[in-house]
This record gives sequence, C-alpha cells and structure tokens, in this order.
Amino acid sequence: MATTTRRVALQWVGGAAAAAMLPLRTSAQAPAFPKGAVIRTLFKDYAPEELAGGATLFHEHLSLGPDFTDRFRAAAAAVLAAQGAPPTQRPAGPPPAPAGPDPMRDVDLMAEELKSAQRDGVACIVDAGLEGAGTDLEFIRAAAMKSGVPVVKGAGFYTEPFYPKEVATMSEGDLVRALVRQADAYPAGVFGEIGSWDEITAVERKVFRAVGKAHVDTNLPIFTHTGIPGKSALEQLDILEDAGVDPKRVCIGHLGNLNDPNVYVHKTICRRGGFVGFDRQGGNGDANVVPLVIALLDAGFADHVLISGDASRGYARPVTSFLPKLKAAGADEAVLKRIMIDNSRRFLAFVPKRARRS
Ligand SMILES: [Zn+2]
Repeated sequence: MATTTRRVALQWVGGAAAAAMLPLRTSAQAPAFPKGAVIRTLFKDYAPEELAGGATLFHEHLSLGPDFTDRFRAAAAAVLAAQGAPPTQRPAGPPPAPAGPDPMRDVDLMAEELKSAQRDGVACIVDAGLEGAGTDLEFIRAAAMKSGVPVVKGAGFYTEPFYPKEVATMSEGDLVRALVRQADAYPAGVFGEIGSWDEITAVERKVFRAVGKAHVDTNLPIFTHTGIPGKSALEQLDILEDAGVDPKRVCIGHLGNLNDPNVYVHKTICRRGGFVGFDRQGGNGDANVVPLVIALLDAGFADHVLISGDASRGYARPVTSFLPKLKAAGADEAVLKRIMIDNSRRFLAFVPKRARRS
C-alpha cells in the first residue's frame, strides 16, 4: 500500500511529468524526528517515517453535529452585528460542501471519502471536531476502521459559543484533568481545534491556559482556530507559551483569512518558531491565499507552513486543487511536497509522556 500511495503522491502536481521526476526526496532531505516520536492515530501509534508516503492533512472534519453549520453562522453573525459590520461582510468559512448525501451521516460514505482521499495521495487525516460541536467519536472510529486510513483525533474544547456548559464554571485545574482524560480515552494525537471567536474571551483564555498545561502533561501538539480574520492569533500563541508550550509545537489556524499582503502576523508566528495554518484550502478562497503562502515561502519560512482543508468531504482538495495553484504562482514542487508530507508530520510527531491506553 505504501508503494501505491507513493506513486500517487508523485502525480499530485504535474501529472505525467511529475511521475517522471526524481523520487520524493533523498534520505539526506528526510526530516529528523525526536527519538521515540510517534504520530498517534485512533488505532495505532505510527513511527513518523511510516506515514511518509503521502500528505497528512492536519485540520479536517469527519463528524460534526447536524446543527453545527447553523450555530457557526449564528455565532459569526452575532460577532459581526456587535461590531456594526455590514451583513455582506462575512468571514470566509470552509469551502462549501458539494450537493448530495452527507458522508457525516453515513459511515460507508465517510469511509469511501477517506479511501478516495488516500487514492489521491493522502496518507493521514486529522479530525478537528470537539465535544460541544456534536462530534461523534464512535462514528469517526467506525469510518477510520472501515477505510483503513490512519486518522488522528483532536481533543479539547473549541470556542466559547460551542463549549459544553460546564466549561464556564470549571477551574483551570479541572479543565487540565478533563483534557488529559480526553487525550487518554480517544486516544488523541493532538489538541485542536482550540479557538477564540473574536477578541479572546476570559473563558477562552482559561481554556487556552489549560490546553497549554495539558500539553505539558502529555506533550501533544496544539492547533488553533481564529475567528474574525487573524484576531487574537498572536495572543493565542502568547497564552500557550506562557503556559509552558514551545511555539514550535503550535499551529495558529485559519490564517488564510488574514489577508495582509505584508504577512506581518504570519511572519511573526514563523519567527517565534510556530506553524501558520492555511487550512481552508482547495476551494473558492484559494486565490486570496496563494499570495500569502508565496510570501512566506519567499521569506524563507516554508518549514512553518501547514496546509489543510477544514472540509467535511472531498478531503484531497488541498492536494489536488490548491497545490497546482501554488505551483502556477511559482512555488517549487519539492517545497510543496515537503509542506504536505514533512511539515505536518513534524507538527504531529511527539514523544508521549503518557502510555497509550487503548
Ligand atoms: Zn475546523
């Protein structure tokens, strides 16, 4: 299976021409992982090298509650209304789902979505759905099992509009314990998506601090959600760092929405060692995001870029649709492969502090 995945991966960007290219990398270019590092999927801990045959998508959704989209829109609209923004000014969301039956309501369809992504060069997928967002862990486990595709589960709490109601009154210590419990039980391979919606709220700060401390207890990496474009991005990193997290273990997410040609916040995160998430790619929003990615590559920050789709189906689109746009804009194919295959594995690989329970 690894051989097949590898051959498919070679055809990502340039079709037949790419297939004739050199192998993906020589061993000299292979990323170094810490001794004992694993990528923790739902059913097995992988050595990072075992997932080198394709892209790892670090932020996708295999299960969200049926009311998730409505709640998401309502929360976004409420923030904009509070700011007096015109109703046309909507934050960019994930690429729209195509018509047809919803794979999130049918395990067989979801397993087929995963297998289809694998055929298109995807080696591993991270589910970013959390308690309070209607995410069904058993559904994800069933789809992952049926497809055979390695799925990493995120743990944590999403954003204040979606927190289970007890989060408001839980102490920081209670939250840390709850997060570690989730991580052990799923088992989780990452904390995320951990978010703020607008200006980060007091409760969201508490959750961020608790996630930082749960990282210290578990060593799991962390990826975030920013709501209003880029808002609180640096503050998210500050809070996590203050709680003891090395920024290089963090990806600040949804920064494709922050349309700053100078990529100031993006570069600041890179300079501090963190990853920048362009994680709603493979759709209509790509045109605005291509120059941001190119600007980071030109500034020498290719090792800090992560790309994913935030999608609920059609998971391979960041690979099949977004990468060709980056290539057309001048990005080097070898660099793109490094981003999709190596950066996401470097982000996810961690040396466990707690033994796997299941
Ligand atoms: Zn998401």
